[in-house]
Amino acid sequence: MGGSNSKDRELRERAAKVIPGGMYGHLSVALLPDDYPQFYSRAEGARLWDADGNELLDFMCAYGPNLFGYGHPEINAAFVRQMEIGDTLTGPSGLIVELAEAFTGMVTHADWAMFCKNGTDATSIAMVTARAHTRRKTIIMAKGAYHGAAPWCTPRPAGVTPEDKANQVFCNYNDIASLEAAVAAAGDDLAAIFAAPVKHDAFVDQAAPDPAYARRARELCDQTGALLVVDDVRAGLRIARDCSWSVVGVEPDLSTWGKCFANGHPISAVLGSDKARAAAASIFVTGSFWFQAAPMAAALQTLKLVRETDYLERLNALGARLRDGLAERASAAGFGFRQTGPLTMPLFLFDDDRDLRKGFFWSSAMLQRGVYVHPWHNMFLCTAMTEADIDFALNAAEDSFKALKANAASLQPIEKLAFLTA
Ligand SMILES: *Cc1c(COP(=O)(O)O)cnc(C)c1O
Repeated sequence: MGGSNSKDRELRERAAKVIPGGMYGHLSVALLPDDYPQFYSRAEGARLWDADGNELLDFMCAYGPNLFGYGHPEINAAFVRQMEIGDTLTGPSGLIVELAEAFTGMVTHADWAMFCKNGTDATSIAMVTARAHTRRKTIIMAKGAYHGAAPWCTPRPAGVTPEDKANQVFCNYNDIASLEAAVAAAGDDLAAIFAAPVKHDAFVDQAAPDPAYARRARELCDQTGALLVVDDVRAGLRIARDCSWSVVGVEPDLSTWGKCFANGHPISAVLGSDKARAAAASIFVTGSFWFQAAPMAAALQTLKLVRETDYLERLNALGARLRDGLAERASAAGFGFRQTGPLTMPLFLFDDDRDLRKGFFWSSAMLQRGVYVHPWHNMFLCTAMTEADIDFALNAAEDSFKALKANAASLQPIEKLAFLTA
């Protein structure tokens, strides 16, 4: 229980001098409990070791990229083999064609693919493609939905001008009336509706897409000539072996992919239908590293495992075991404990815990017992997890609920989360 953290503290002190803010973006632990590690040393399967060597069963999965387990032997072998043959070259290898064929063969709406590095590259390409296709400007997004960290979509205001965020209208997820109002506000200027495949916003309960909302988004795009974009960067391949809105029977014109489709190797993608092909061919988008062959080899191997194994059924079974086990233990301890999101991407929030003091205490207690959970961001399961791992997490949870119960009355407000209740 609760190992040393001296190496982590030392690295933090040094980082504070040479890395702005000590760390940045989603990998800064500034908004996590104080005992959460900032630095890691290695990983294998479902497990992660922090810089001090403490072993953790990892329910963050690198914030999504880990689908088949860290260091998956076949995927990494494909990557290493291609690295030795040729990676960043004067032009792409033939693997780009193979990968586009494999991906469009799996995703029903897709007739073509473009590859890039990060999810933000993919969502930005989708935005530009929709504007090129329609020769209009306005993009509709759901309030609170994350589509990346470029100036047009970053959630923080620093350094961003109003012009960077111009031509955007917001609606509420799963709220048809607000979607219709947003379309009305866009008038004759609607270029695209950007849809999150599920509501997977931070700090709040997650929500599955209402099929009627998804269908209405499709209809509104068809009526106006705008493109429907599903941002599957996070949920892709954890809900379906197809675009995530296939489960509600709605096909977008464009979908964006990233995070896990090469099991942690750097590559992202935009998939599109024939309708958007000419526009996608007309825009200029590129990057020095977008054509790397080794991540494409890793992606081909990952998609093969997606097609040929029961990984998704196993992930769902593990997720159900976790959800049922936690519900039982939370209720035995007398806590209202909300588990939302797909079984493969859960988020946990306590009732009567707007400032997350219970969530923080319980998550720290889990960490001390060797389980990394996140108090306010959705988590991820990977196929390297076993039933024994889930049971290990459930035992840790049982003890952590007991510890929380014993300490609930004396929990103090968490200063760094004051913005949640302000
Ligand atoms: C992570 C994410 C992005 C951005 O991807 P990056 O690789 O971090 O640029 C975009 N959309 C969604 C839904 C994401 O979860």
